[in-house]
Amino acid sequence: MAIRSVKEYKESLRDGRRVYIRGEKVEDITRHPILGITVDTIAGGYELTASEDPSVRDLFVAPHPKTGEPINRYFVTPANREDLANRTKMIQRSIEVIGGLPFGRDIGTDCLNAAFVVAGQMGKKQYQENAMNFLEHLRKNDLHTCGAVTCVKGDRGKEPAQQKHPDYYLHVVDKNKEGIVVKGAKIHITSAPAANEILVVPTRQMRENEADYAVSFAIPANTKGITFICRGGRGAWSDHEFHADRPVRELTEAMIVFDNVFVPWDRVFMCGEWQYSMLIAYTFATFHRFTAISYKVPSVEVMAGCAVAMAKYNGLDKVSHIRDKLADIAAYVETLRALTNAAAADPVMYGEIAVPNPLICNMAKLHFASKYHEFIKLIQDIGGGILATAPDKKDWDNPDIHDYLEHYLGGSEKYSTLDRLKMIHETMRHVCSHESAFHEVTTVHAEGSMAAQKMMILAESPLQQYEAKAMAAAGITPWSKRL
Ligand SMILES: Cc1cc2nc3c(=O)[nH]c(=O)nc-3n(C[C@H](O)[C@H](O)[C@H](O)COP(=O)(O)OP(=O)(O)OC[C@H]3O[C@@H](n4cnc5c(N)ncnc54)[C@H](O)[C@@H]3O)c2cc1C
Repeated sequence: MAIRSVKEYKESLRDGRRVYIRGEKVEDITRHPILGITVDTIAGGYELTASEDPSVRDLFVAPHPKTGEPINRYFVTPANREDLANRTKMIQRSIEVIGGLPFGRDIGTDCLNAAFVVAGQMGKKQYQENAMNFLEHLRKNDLHTCGAVTCVKGDRGKEPAQQKHPDYYLHVVDKNKEGIVVKGAKIHITSAPAANEILVVPTRQMRENEADYAVSFAIPANTKGITFICRGGRGAWSDHEFHADRPVRELTEAMIVFDNVFVPWDRVFMCGEWQYSMLIAYTFATFHRFTAISYKVPSVEVMAGCAVAMAKYNGLDKVSHIRDKLADIAAYVETLRALTNAAAADPVMYGEIAVPNPLICNMAKLHFASKYHEFIKLIQDIGGGILATAPDKKDWDNPDIHDYLEHYLGGSEKYSTLDRLKMIHETMRHVCSHESAFHEVTTVHAEGSMAAQKMMILAESPLQQYEAKAMAAAGITPWSKRL
């Protein structure tokens, strides 16, 4: 069963996993009003591989590199720029087709690809074999994976070994000939309660005295000692919202507690090699920021479209200061698109694995995170105060007041009042809602804070080359050529 059905995926989640949300234990997450939305969003990814539209199915299903059997294309380890470009296409097409991102395999394979690169750099055959066997397990069973990287971290000013207690960073507490035992908690993990497998990668560089924190592995979600404590999401549509006839798409994040969890050796990709903790965290971040910049493009396209449409509904689309703002909006989106494509087109090769260009991935993530609030401000400006105060669908549906709304809430006479109101509500969702505030924080922090991107940009940029050029321009002898 290299390609699973939605039914098989949902059935696999009824496996005794320990999940809590809003203080309650959930026995069957597929039937829960909030977690069920996460499950259905992930299930959307399984609908894509079963699609009857060949242009969709052929994008998401690929032949197994050795056997030719159909597998999900996310399980093809990128070997060249085409493979990377396909990852971007898959992410973007998912959003277009199902209306949300079924982060089903993206983040997990971002972790696994990093584990492959680092196992190769370490030259440890056993880890390479473990990673390969695990990949075959994913391919064969078409599993949903999440990526658990971010530790809870305690006092950010202190390193793991200096913390008040040892568990602020996930670490190895015991080892025997069968495997290792780990303790700690990972936080903000996207779609974790609906995953089959959890992939764990260290969150940062570790030092020699922190070798127990340099640990990477994969473990089934129902393993003894694992508990998911989930974010309460928005839930289903309410009847006061205008919405298209499509389901809510949302992914819940969870804190995953590892309470003395046993991991067999054949599931371990790093254990104690602290010298490589930086490389695995760094390589994961590069793959993951590439995932992020890919999914952001279709999201910000819709938001930019709201600005274009609101300008028209308000009768202002020819006004110069509005056009000036639309130019800034378009430049934000198109810069992101160009950088995303460039990151795929110029990979760095680690053996046979193509890693998206680290400098460009970080520039793109920094671009969308650092300018996102400005982008939102422009949309809010064009839309007007009605984005904060619009009457809702129940007002529109109430015959007592409907005619007032119809009469007074029109804009440009080219468009109906109902369409204007629907577009106001769509725009509100993106720039004036609980969800939009969630996305503002997410855009800054998910896939790493802006300081993390700047650190990587400095590490990847040819600063000395710039300096040498300036010295030559100024007629100064380079430092290296002085006696
Ligand atoms: C919606 C969402 C989904 C996410 N999904 C996932 C996921 O699937 N998997 C996963 O592993 N992670 C995930 N994350 C986590 C994300 O990667 C982190 O939020 C991010 O790395 C920032 O870490 P933090 O939240 O602990 O913030 P903090 O580390 O507390 O950062 C707060 C600020 O402090 C600064 N700071 C922190 N430490 C230091 C230091 N030592 N020195 C100087 N400055 C410092 C940061 O730069 C930042 O400005 C997700 C986050 C969000 C919001």
